[in-house]
Amino acid sequence: MRVLLSSNQIQARVREMGAGISRDYATSTDLVLVGVMRGSVCFLADLMRAIDRPLRIDFCAVRSYSGTSGGTPELVTNLLGDVRGADVVIVEDIIERGVTLQAVMQLVERQEPKSVALCTLLRKDIVRNWEPKVRYVGFEIGPEFVVGYGLDYEQRFRNLPYVGIPDPGEIDG
Ligand code: 5GP
Ligand code: MG
Repeated sequence: MRVLLSSNQIQARVREMGAGISRDYATSTDLVLVGVMRGSVCFLADLMRAIDRPLRIDFCAVRSYSGTSGGTPELVTNLLGDVRGADVVIVEDIIERGVTLQAVMQLVERQEPKSVALCTLLRKDIVRNWEPKVRYVGFEIGPEFVVGYGLDYEQRFRNLPYVGIPDPGEIDG
């Protein structure tokens, strides 16, 4: 495994992002962070504690990846609560093609929230046919497949405290 972003680097950046969201939503009366399961679990848990505003959290689940390649996103779990009239921040682990976020945005917008913003820990620096407007980006990274800090390969590696690029032998078998 090659460490791409250390735990300290991630923690420092997440604190900055939390401070930014706290400022931007200082006057919001109903802020809801919507985590996209399962990859955003570490990011959401740290980000919510870096925001010093009242907030709610909710979740949805979308499945699109099989092994190391993306497929068509499929909604697995809808939001648990109601976001009508709320200021929603969708919290993603990583944006690659942007199709997962697009699916989650459609799901959230159906409930007519007051506002919707996108927040991702990682964004891959690749050419996309749809460029989502992402308000909060933690790190721009290269096109390599990464794991850790919530991100998996076949459900493994989510518990690593850092983001790393697995060696070929680690993801083949
Ligand atoms: P998109 O829909 O933007 O193409 O892909 C987003 C989803 O694909 C993410 O939520 C994540 O689940 C998965 N994904 C994309 N790139 C990576 C990667 O490098 N590593 C891992 N573990 N998952 C990825
Ligand atoms: Mg994901």
